[in-house]
Amino acid sequence: MAARKHRRTALERVEKFLSQTYFTDCNLRGRLFGDRCPPTSVSCFQTPRRIPYEEAVGQDFRPAKPGDSFGPTWETCWFKVELSIPMAWAGREVHFVWESDGEGLVWRDAQPVQGLTKEGEKTSYILTSSLKEWEPHSLTLYVELACNGLFGAGQGSMIAPPDPDRRFTLSKAELVVFNRDVYELLMDLEILLDMAQLLGEENQRSFQALYTANQMVNMCDVTDPSTFSAARDLAAAIFSQRNGESQHTIHAVGHCHIDSAWLWPYEETVRKCARSWATVLRLMEHNPELTFACSQAQQFEWVRSWYPGLYAQIQDFVAKGQFIPVGGTWVEMDGNLPSGEAMVRQFLQGQRFFQEQFGRICSEFWLPDTFGYSAQLPQLMRGCGIQRFLTQKLSWNLVNTFPHHTFFWEGIDGSRVLTHFPPGDSYGMHGRVEEMLKTVKNNKDKGLVNHSAFLFGFGDGGGGPTQKMLDRMKRMSDTDGLPRVQLSSPNRLFSVLEEESSQLCTWVGELFLELHNGTYTTQAQIKKGNRECERILHDVEVLSTLAAARDDAFLYPVCQLQRLWRLLLLNQFHDVLPGSCIQLVVEDALQHYTEIRRAGAQLQEEAVQSLCRELLQPQADSTESTLVLNTLPWERTEVISRTGPSGAESLALVTVPSMGYAIVREPSLPPKPVVVRKQEDGSIAMENGVIAVCLDTMGRLTSLRLVDSERESISAGCYANQFALFDDVPLYWDAWDVMDYHLETRKAVTTLLTPLEITMAGGLRGCARFSLQIGKGSTLTQEIILDATCPYLRFLTQVEWKEAHKFLKVEFPVEVRSTNATYEIQFGHLQRPTHWNTSWDWARFEVWAHKWMDLSEHGFGVALLNDCKYGASAHRNVLSLSLLRAPKSPDATADMGHHQFTYAVMPHWGSFQDAGVIQRAYSLNVPLQAVPAGSAPGRAWSAFSVSSPAVVLETVKQAEDRPRAVVVRLYEAHGSTVVAWLQTSLPVQEAMLCDLLERPCAGGRLPLEQRGLSLSFTPFRLLSVLLLLRQ
Ligand SMILES: [Zn+2]
Repeated sequence: MAARKHRRTALERVEKFLSQTYFTDCNLRGRLFGDRCPPTSVSCFQTPRRIPYEEAVGQDFRPAKPGDSFGPTWETCWFKVELSIPMAWAGREVHFVWESDGEGLVWRDAQPVQGLTKEGEKTSYILTSSLKEWEPHSLTLYVELACNGLFGAGQGSMIAPPDPDRRFTLSKAELVVFNRDVYELLMDLEILLDMAQLLGEENQRSFQALYTANQMVNMCDVTDPSTFSAARDLAAAIFSQRNGESQHTIHAVGHCHIDSAWLWPYEETVRKCARSWATVLRLMEHNPELTFACSQAQQFEWVRSWYPGLYAQIQDFVAKGQFIPVGGTWVEMDGNLPSGEAMVRQFLQGQRFFQEQFGRICSEFWLPDTFGYSAQLPQLMRGCGIQRFLTQKLSWNLVNTFPHHTFFWEGIDGSRVLTHFPPGDSYGMHGRVEEMLKTVKNNKDKGLVNHSAFLFGFGDGGGGPTQKMLDRMKRMSDTDGLPRVQLSSPNRLFSVLEEESSQLCTWVGELFLELHNGTYTTQAQIKKGNRECERILHDVEVLSTLAAARDDAFLYPVCQLQRLWRLLLLNQFHDVLPGSCIQLVVEDALQHYTEIRRAGAQLQEEAVQSLCRELLQPQADSTESTLVLNTLPWERTEVISRTGPSGAESLALVTVPSMGYAIVREPSLPPKPVVVRKQEDGSIAMENGVIAVCLDTMGRLTSLRLVDSERESISAGCYANQFALFDDVPLYWDAWDVMDYHLETRKAVTTLLTPLEITMAGGLRGCARFSLQIGKGSTLTQEIILDATCPYLRFLTQVEWKEAHKFLKVEFPVEVRSTNATYEIQFGHLQRPTHWNTSWDWARFEVWAHKWMDLSEHGFGVALLNDCKYGASAHRNVLSLSLLRAPKSPDATADMGHHQFTYAVMPHWGSFQDAGVIQRAYSLNVPLQAVPAGSAPGRAWSAFSVSSPAVVLETVKQAEDRPRAVVVRLYEAHGSTVVAWLQTSLPVQEAMLCDLLERPCAGGRLPLEQRGLSLSFTPFRLLSVLLLLRQ
């Protein structure tokens, strides 16, 4: 009999029928599980180490039971579970249910078979979908339980430092009968209820769904499963009412974003990968249509070496096209801070791994979760076989809403890539009606494209997709009122987007994240390790390549370099290099840097010994001399420190050719010595014939001039090299965020401990030292150094840092007016405004840069160089370098202790390009290297030089897989169109252009001419050249 229906009572009636809380004695949810029984026995063994299965199962296990707790944090508990399925359950679906707040992995027959993580809705391991009577009913499983949760073990809040003494409880371990028919009916009703609620009263589809659900409840007798099928038919009828042709299509792709380290150490990530991917494979066995996109070659490599059996299964599913490697990089790295060459290596190591292991490279860059994206990335992607990019983090912008979800992104050189942000603003969807509707509604490019991505699955140990997510989306695949949903792949999505791309907009320049801007500064030792190790690997490659080119007997250290690069690349992961990780990760990362420094020094010595063997032989009749090596591609005249025969250190002014070396016996005299004078008021003046400076007793610059000029660089009445301390209390993300309001808390640091005094009187070097008290507990000591001939003043800084929620910066108010400042980025530079006109300008109150930044007028400017800092800003005429922060979460000890860093200020005539700021910033970062030598005075050698100062030869390395071939990488650094000649003294037989993966370009042969190789550049163009050497 038809009855009037009240919308609210009908909705709530269906809700109660599905409720986990109310009326479970008589509702449908209460019938999901049938009989239960405990395992025959549970026993356990605990260890502080993460050990292999074979080692674990040989240990002594002692009895355990649900309710027991285990710990402390980071230990591992291995459980042996003996099961026997009751004979009465024959024909039924039986699950092993395991609930704990620790992350579990089920092992069966010595193989990992599934992850069990409550937070990822994975508490059931399916033992059988219908047990036959003749099948064995008894079974032994092992469960490897990590004493950490999905997000580690934060004390109180997720990002709080881990509680070292936390205990983890086994709350449930039992066998249950699972009623699949009840589950299916629940899924139908859930979707109908969501449609009824979310489509709203103005939508007739909402009422159709509601009344159908109501009718289904009428028809169901929960005690009589034979009534279910008629109810299910009603649901199927409504789900099969299809959409019109114009409906939006959602491409659902399974995903599990696994941070390579974050609130847990690297070693735990290895197990998170195994747990999650084993779970995904089980799901694929039951759902052959499931696709799963998986990034980060490093994680594949971990599973390959730790879980070979699991890896072999993954390879099968890759071959089937279900398990889809994506991204092309070694890890999902930070998008701002790695150097240009390091970013190339992310792709080179990643793509080569994917090619080797799976027979193809990735066609899309996959970086959903990092804190901004360099404007150089489009060119790097294109050079690595990638024309598509997927991310979504810009939806986290605090101030401005990014105006697109699908667009072309154009980098500083003009390279474009098709870019897609999943419009649902998440990479961890659950397949719900609400998320589908949001995806369509939120899409900023409606009418331009009609397809979008939907990444579903729990990340970070949550084990990725669930059966429920798949079953929800099955029902929504094509039902009127909802977008069409299909399980798809990144390739299918991007292919249709490419077809639809003719109307898309273009975004030019960086994708700046208006949040997490503290990550340019947090964990200064990691930043320093990164910069230094990038330099070390650069130098080792240059010197090893030259050694190998000159002497066949020298073996280029291929394996060692790959190992060290991979350590460096791993540390560039988007929660490690940004400093947003726990202390355990910081310790691992610093150890990796120590290893790169140690092994790098040894490799460099071996290369130098081979390259300069004759010069290093002691010779009887000669006086001691010094071999000076220059790994940069221009001639350098600089003051170095060298060790004499008696072991005493002395200074020498030397000139060394481009990418080569010189033997120095008698150092040259400076054209003008450095003059240092103390004035009556205690201030100190220094001058070297290039610049003249005046420093007050607190080490602050009151004057900075180019000699023979009255043009003052420091604003009248202001001090440069002024330290300032800010309160730094963000809203939540402590290690990540510095908020706009910190600028309102500026306090100049003016507490003098030791006034400025001269420590080197001049000649080749002038130097003065002072120290300050910062805040309550910290001190800073600085040596201000001026070298003969050097166009910049150097600040060698030591800080003892003991602060809480403070931010230390150093400021240079300069007498320059410009609405834009220039910042170095990967293989180039870009400009950002110095004003706060619009919300887009103001949101960039704290930005990142690499080795230098510059503020210039026509004809004059001032540059600020640094050797390991990344945070910066330029507001009006004040250049600031961000030095140290003191966040307390997730690492309570972040940045506490000793720091050493150097920055420098360089006033210049003309543009920064013509003044050589770029070259000087390289020189500050890559010092000349002095080695005591035998003799052979006057010998100098250059391997490479470039005719144009606009072109930087950044990289010299042996080609991958080709021992007698060298790859050189050059870029146009001025932002100009230029032809440059590359000259080399190496025995080059043949030269050709290649891409960043070192694949020769079609028609890329370069003629060898007297003047070298002619190379044509457009602004910021990156060129790689393969040089085949004569045998
Ligand atoms: Zn992440």
